[in-house]
This record gives sequence, structure tokens and C-alpha cells, in this order.
Amino acid sequence: METATLQPYRAYTPRPFTKEERDHVTILFGGLHWRAERVLQGVFENRGYKAQVLPTATKEDLLTGRELADIGQCCPTSFTTGNLANFLRSEAKRIGKDEVAKKYVYFTAGSCGACRFGQYHQSYELALRNTGMESFRLFLLAQDRMDQGATTGDGLEMNIPFTTGAVWAVLCTDVLQDLEYQVRPYEVIPGQTDQIVKESVEYLYDIFRNRPDRGKKWGAILWHLTTDSFVKALREVSKKFERIEVDRLQVKPIVKITGEFYLQTVEGDPNYNIHRWLESEGAEVYPAAVAVWLDYWMRWYVQGFEDYLGIDKSVRLKIAAVKSLQKLFRWTYNRLRAALGYIPREMPDQYEMRRLASPYFHSRLSGGEGDMLVGKALWAYHHKKAHMTCELSPYSCMPNTMSLGAMAGVLGKYPDLLYAPLEIKGDAEVHALSRCQMILTEAKKRAQHEYEMVLHRTGLTTEKARSYLDAHPEMKKATYRVPHDGVVGCAANLILHLAHRSGR
Ligand code: SF4
Repeated sequence: METATLQPYRAYTPRPFTKEERDHVTILFGGLHWRAERVLQGVFENRGYKAQVLPTATKEDLLTGRELADIGQCCPTSFTTGNLANFLRSEAKRIGKDEVAKKYVYFTAGSCGACRFGQYHQSYELALRNTGMESFRLFLLAQDRMDQGATTGDGLEMNIPFTTGAVWAVLCTDVLQDLEYQVRPYEVIPGQTDQIVKESVEYLYDIFRNRPDRGKKWGAILWHLTTDSFVKALREVSKKFERIEVDRLQVKPIVKITGEFYLQTVEGDPNYNIHRWLESEGAEVYPAAVAVWLDYWMRWYVQGFEDYLGIDKSVRLKIAAVKSLQKLFRWTYNRLRAALGYIPREMPDQYEMRRLASPYFHSRLSGGEGDMLVGKALWAYHHKKAHMTCELSPYSCMPNTMSLGAMAGVLGKYPDLLYAPLEIKGDAEVHALSRCQMILTEAKKRAQHEYEMVLHRTGLTTEKARSYLDAHPEMKKATYRVPHDGVVGCAANLILHLAHRSGR
């Protein structure tokens, strides 16, 4: 009996996606948080594409991914592969496989490694084969090129107007997300923040959908850099947030989320809904901005050039060029933060993070977040940005496993750094969350201790602080900025701020 079929290997080559298909073929995409995905949909539609966001991956998708591709692959691969496969299967039931292959294409980011990210396409291909949908078209986009021209076929043009739109969409939703997470834990009317965030995301979707066309190259770049359209849009968002009343005297630990890119970004089953879970446990979450990863990617180029110092005469110029680009990027991010009253937090400095991480993790080790996981934990610790760091580490992830090892050295040097590394398998929720809860209990104690210390120092009481706030209702608005003043927690910083204001 023949048990296996020997076939020569043939690389998956999808049929081209052509310009003529644009008005009846829908581009599927996903893998970020819902705010960024919705606004990116506006970017696609602005360029004349039909686009649809895949639903957030579920546990069922995880199991499908394991079944259809490789059981030992890292869990983000299983989640995303299963997510696509289940969507296609359900559509195939509705309209048939052939119709699915005609009606949809899938675009996702690709890379050449060093980790499993360089092999994502093979998992997708295997899943397509195993579901009998080889004729479905999926395309990988290089993550490091602004202008990739037309992808296979001339259907999707990854040109400057598209990419700049995508970058600005990410920046706008990053600052919005940061504001949201600083408001929701303290809202007086439950559910109000979620409602306003939904309204704001729809508003931003319209803004991006109706962006003007300013040419294919420099015109588009210049327009994005100089226009005040996005700043004005975020000011409108700020007005919406102004309606929310907050009680910032609630003492809550701040938990910084770090980890593998997909797991720290997505909100749902792939990370056990950790953001919502932490909030329900009484924490304020410091979410992971996608912009930090884009900044890291630019730093990566600088590092590559630095290797040629003393060898290539033009390399200093190249380094200066990329560093200027980073400055421009930070300037743009800060402009958007300013539109929201500087409440969204600043981006950490990449070179400081590299310096902090360097005794423990080599900056040239690539894959995943590289040295950033160590760098971010130390940056948050030294700058008092969070009471604890929660690192979401995927099962079977090579770069994260290396970071965990390096963090043992960090904790040896800084034993009071509260660090909760969670191995995320997708199906071991109780284990991961109970581990997180143990560190969170300590973080709560720290937040409470810090608050009491500040009360003692200023001679204020919670009651006095509350009466002051009642007499100054503008300070109870979500858009009122409480400066960061050498302590971590929101309530502790507020007490210090009140003390300064009342001349104590
Ligand atoms: S960083 Fe880890 S989880 Fe992400 S693709 Fe690479 S191996 Fe997988």
C-alpha cells in the first residue's frame, strides 16, 4: 500500500491580482488591534480598494491553525493561520470554494526571519493545501519598504500614498489607544469611554477614507508631514473625550504590556484578553504602541550602518539620514499627542533602550522585538512609567525565549523590578492569568504604598483632594492632563499636582 505521495516541491505561486479586479475582489487583512484595523480599512478604500478586516482570532482558530499547519509552530502563527482558514471555510460554505478564490485575496506582512515570521507564508500555504483551497491568493508584503510598487499583478500598489496613509493611521490610533487606556479605568459612568472610542474610530476612518490625493511620491509625503488634517481630527476626538468624567483618586497599579508584536498588539483570545482582564482586576494598562516597533525598525538600519563605520566613507551620511527620519517620525508622533493634550505617552528613545538592554541582550540579535523587551522593561522601571511589566511571550517563540533568559540577569541586578513573563499558548489561560495575578498583587501593594507616602509628604488627605477636585470640575475631565511627577501611579501624581496647585 502506498502511504505517501512523492511530489517535487513547487513553491506556491498565486495567480496575479490585477487592476481590473479591484472593484469586485476584496482584500482581507488583520493582525492588529481593532482601532488600527478599522482606520486602515479607510486607507485601503481611499486608494480605491475593497477591503475587509478579518475577525479577531479565537481559540477555535488556534486549534484549526495547529491542525492545518505545524503543531509546533509559535502560537501567533497558529492563531493567524487558523483565523484565515476558518474565515475562508465559512465563506466557502456560503458561496463555494471557487467563488471564495475569486472574491477574496489576503495580504499580510512578511519577512525573511530570523524567527518563524520568515516562514509565515509556508504555514498559510500548508493550511490552504490542507483545506483544498490552493487556488486562493495570498500575498506577502515586505515590512521594510515604503514603496514596493505593484505586488504580484498590478492589483495592489504598495506605493507612497498607501504606505504614508497606513503609517499615519497607525500613529493616530496609537495615541487614541493610549488616551483610552488612561481614561477607562477611572471613568465615572461605566461604558462611556468605549462608546466614545467607537465614535472616534469611525470618525478617523472617515478622515482617512477621504484623504486628498497629493501625488505618488514626494507630494504625498510632504502633505502628510505638513497637513493639520490629522491634528484637527484628533482635536475633535479630544472634544469627544471631554465629555467623560473621571475619578483619578482611585489607586491602581500601572501595568506595562510588552512582548511579541502580535500578542502585545491584538486584543482578544490570542492574549487571553489580557488588557480587559487586567482592567477588571483593578489595573491601569499601559498598552504597546505600534509606532515603537516602526521606530525600532529604523534603529535597526542605523545599527547595520554603524558596522561600516571606518570602512565606508558615506556611512555617516546614511546614519544621519535615518536618524533624521527618526526625528521626523517622533516629531509627527508628538504633534498627534499634542492634539490630545499630551496625555498619550511619549515614545521611548530607541538608543536609550539599546543602551539599557546592552549588558543583557545584544542589539544585533534580530527576530521578534530583539533587545526591546529587555530595554522596555528597564526603561519603564528607571523612568517610573509602570509598577510592573507584563511580557506576553508566545509558546514556542525563539526571540521571546531568549529575552526571558536575559531578564533573569536583569532581575538579578534589579530584584525590585516587577516582571510577569506569561507564556501564551492560547489554551492555558488559568495558568497564565494566575501567574500574572501573583505579581499584580505585589504591584497593587506598591501603588497603595506610593499613594500613602505621597499623602504623607504633602499633608493632604483623600477627602481634601476630593473637595479640591469638586471645586475645580475641569480637573475631573478625561482631557485634563495630570503631569508625571516622579511617582508612577495616576492617583499619586494627582495628589502631587494638587499639592503644587494649592501651594503646599
Ligand atoms: S517573534 Fe516569536 S511568535 Fe512572533 S513570529 Fe517570531 S517566533 Fe513567532
